[in-house]
Amino acid sequence: VLRLESVRKTFGGSVVLRDVGLAVPPHTVTVLIGASGSGKSTLLRCVNLLEEIDDGAIFLDGEEITDPHVDPDSVRRRIGVVFQAYNLFPHMTVLDNITLAPRRVHKVPRAEAEDRARELLARLGLAEKAGEYPDRLSGGQQQRVAIVRALAGQPRLLLLDEITAALDPELVGEVLGVVRDLKSQGMTMVIATHEMAFAREVADQVCFLDRGVVLERGTPGEVFGSPTAVRTQQFLRRIV
Ligand code: ATP
Ligand code: MG
Repeated sequence: VLRLESVRKTFGGSVVLRDVGLAVPPHTVTVLIGASGSGKSTLLRCVNLLEEIDDGAIFLDGEEITDPHVDPDSVRRRIGVVFQAYNLFPHMTVLDNITLAPRRVHKVPRAEAEDRARELLARLGLAEKAGEYPDRLSGGQQQRVAIVRALAGQPRLLLLDEITAALDPELVGEVLGVVRDLKSQGMTMVIATHEMAFAREVADQVCFLDRGVVLERGTPGEVFGSPTAVRTQQFLRRIV
């Protein structure tokens, strides 16, 4: 579904991603781990074309999306994103938050968009919250609504950046449960997280980023069980 080839990204003079290569096959989950500032969010933002890369190429379903002639909106329509801070519009109900993009961007008729939104809400255990405003929901519920919103465009790929970082510990589980369900339904995902136990459980592929370099990559068993790089060993020893 997604492929990165020798991606390089700099901010000012500093290199944030260096020669990053990554292949995400359909129906797999790739988890990005690494210290704060290692480039996880930047990588996801490059995939969603929120950042312009300096060198290399990114392919979505075989199409080079970093080609300057590609319309970024057509790319973003195929990618769902959820970030740490659930960015729901406070003045809109849950249902309107979810159906906004499908109606405006994808030109889906209101009734159809709402039917689909209600179906997704039900799947995530939020059926009765359609008419609520975001501030009347718990953090975990808001984050689940943000996931529903990302799914409403029927994306090919879902990018999740620290989606549990802003949550109280007791709410983390319900959001991770949703990710687990999405995986079992075959959704292709790239996830940046500091939740190592979760990474280990849900990942098909783990990538350890160190100062913008993919230092280690493999199955969770390989990366967590027998990391080869000294930096990976140090990182995991500090975290786990
Ligand atoms: P965290 O785990 O804290 O979320 P991260 O791995 O997501 O960290 P990034 O947010 O990708 O790290 O940041 C990587 C580096 O890029 C950092 O050194 C950061 O300061 C720098 N950086 C990110 N965005 C910008 C920007 N818009 N302008 C300049 N530097 C930036
Ligand atoms: Mg980040």
